[in-house]
Amino acid sequence: MDEWISHYNKDSIVRAAFIMAETAHKGVLRSTGDPYFTHCLAVAKTVAGLGLDEHSIAAALLHDTVEDTEITIETIENKFGKGVAFLVDGLTKLKNLDYSKKSAKGENLRKFVLSFAKDLRVVIIKLADRLHNMQTLKSLSLERQQRMAWETTEIYAPIAYRLGMQQLSGELEDLAFPYLHPEENEWLTKAVKDEYETRHEYTKKLVPIVKKLLEQDDIHPIAVDARAKRRASLYKKLLRYEMDLDRVYDLVAVRVIVNTVTECYTALGSIHKSWAPLPNRFRDYIARPKQNGYKSLHTTVFCVDNIITEFQIRTQEMHEENEFGVAAHWGYQQTKSNPKKVKSWLGIGNRNELAWVEQLRNWQSQIPDSEEFEESVKAEFFKDRIYVLTPQNDIIDLPAQSTPVDFAYRIHTRIGNECVGAKVNGNIVPLSHELHSGDVVEIITQKGKKPSESWLSFVKTSLPRKQIRRALQTTLPWFKKETKKFTEFRIHCDDRPGYLKDIGSVFAEHRITITHLTSATDNRRKLSTVTIQCDPLQMDTVEKLMVKIKRVQGTRTVSYLLG
Ligand code: MN
Repeated sequence: MDEWISHYNKDSIVRAAFIMAETAHKGVLRSTGDPYFTHCLAVAKTVAGLGLDEHSIAAALLHDTVEDTEITIETIENKFGKGVAFLVDGLTKLKNLDYSKKSAKGENLRKFVLSFAKDLRVVIIKLADRLHNMQTLKSLSLERQQRMAWETTEIYAPIAYRLGMQQLSGELEDLAFPYLHPEENEWLTKAVKDEYETRHEYTKKLVPIVKKLLEQDDIHPIAVDARAKRRASLYKKLLRYEMDLDRVYDLVAVRVIVNTVTECYTALGSIHKSWAPLPNRFRDYIARPKQNGYKSLHTTVFCVDNIITEFQIRTQEMHEENEFGVAAHWGYQQTKSNPKKVKSWLGIGNRNELAWVEQLRNWQSQIPDSEEFEESVKAEFFKDRIYVLTPQNDIIDLPAQSTPVDFAYRIHTRIGNECVGAKVNGNIVPLSHELHSGDVVEIITQKGKKPSESWLSFVKTSLPRKQIRRALQTTLPWFKKETKKFTEFRIHCDDRPGYLKDIGSVFAEHRITITHLTSATDNRRKLSTVTIQCDPLQMDTVEKLMVKIKRVQGTRTVSYLLG
C-alpha cells in the first residue's frame, strides 16, 4: 500500500475509497504500462495537495470506477454517502464529453459550464485528472495526443486560469505546448536555453543583495527567489514582441514575498530607491487585481550592472491565492483554526474581486461548520451567478437574471452602446430577455447607434447603467448643457505599455491640461478604453488632437464630446 494513505485514519472515507478503487481497477494497465490505479492515486494526491476536503479526495480516487469498472453510483452512494456520489457522478458525466467534433464544440462546452455551475470541486478534480493524463500523454497515439493537448489548451487551462489557479493553468499549458507546436517548441528550447541560464544565474546573485536592501528598511521578507517564465506563456509573449527575446524582461523575475500589504509598498519603495524603474512598467495589481483575482505589485528596474529586471512583490496570502485560486479558499477552510491567518487573510484589499471569491470569504467567516459550508457552496453560491458563452466560447460570468444588454456591456462599451438585438442559442430574443447558464449569446450591433433609456429598467449590472446614462447625456441636449463643462475624448486602443504616455504627450504638445483620465482593459486584456477630459476646447483644436491621437501606435478608434 502506498505510504501516502497511511496519513489517513483507518475509518476515514479516503482509506475506504482507496481500497475500493484499487480493488476495482486490479489487473488493468494504462497505456504507459503502469497499473490503472496509479492514475487514480496521482489525481487524489493532487486534489489533497490543493487542500480540498476528504469527500473530494475520495471522489478523486473513485473518479474512473463508474465508467471503467463494475462499480455503480448506487454502490458509492451506499458506502460513502450522497456527497461523494454527487462528485463522482459529476466526474463521470464530464468524462463522456466529446470535444472532437468541431461542430459540437459549443454544445459540449455548454454542458461543461453547466456542470461547472453545480460544484466547483467537480471541476477542480477534473483538472487534476487532466493534469495527470497530460503528464503521461507520451504513450498515447499521435491523434489522441493532439486532441487531448487541444482540449487542455482550449478548455481546461483557461478554466483553471479563470478560477485563479495560475500554477495548474500554467502547468497544463506547458504540458500541451510541445504536442501542439512541436517546431516552435524545438526552436524555443534552443533559442532560450543560454539566455535563460544567464538570467537565472544573474537573478540568483541578486537574491542576497535584495534581502539586504529590504532589511535596511526593516522588512524581513518571507522569501526572495527567482521565478522563470513558463514556456507557453513566454511563447505567447514572444509572438507579441516579434520574437525578440531582449524585450522580454520577465524571462526570469525576482519574486519577493513579504508579511503585509504595507510591506509590499515599502519594499517597492526600497527597490525604486536603489534602482531606477522603467517608465510605464509599474503595475499595481493589489489596488486593481486582475479579473481572475491575481494580486501583486510588478515593477521593472535598471538593476545591478544596469540589467533590466522585473520584480514581483506580494504577501504570502496573495501568493497562495494567485497560485491556487479558488482551491486556496478550501485549503484555508481547513486551517481556519489559526486566528493569525484569519487576520492577515481578511486584511487583503478586496476591490474589484470576482464576486464569488468575495462570497466564499463571507461564508467562511459566517459559517462555522464545514458541512454547512459545503452545502451552501452547492446551493447558495451559484444561485446568483450565471455563466454564459460568447460565440467564440469565452465564458462570461454575470449576476443571475442578467440580460443581453448586461452581456454586451461586459464585452465592450461600444458593443453595449451600439447593441440593437441579440441571439441566444441562435434565436433572436428581446434585449430584456433573461439569460441562463450555458446560453450562447451573440450581440447584433449597428454602427453609431445609441442606447435606449428604457434599458435602464431591466439591466442587472451597474456598468451598463453608468454607460447608458453617459451615452444618453450626449444625445439629450438639455441634459448636456447642464452637466458638460469639459471636452472628453473616448479612445479604444490596444493594451500596450507606454500607450498612455504617448497620448499624454499629444496633449502636452498643445499645452492642454488633462483634468481627468480613466483607463480600463477588457477581460481578454487586449483592448483598452481610455477616457480623457480637459477644459472645453474649440472645434479646430479638437480636430488637430483627433488626428494626432489616431496616429499614436495602438489607437483603434477615437471619439469626442464637446463641452
Ligand atoms: Mn481519469
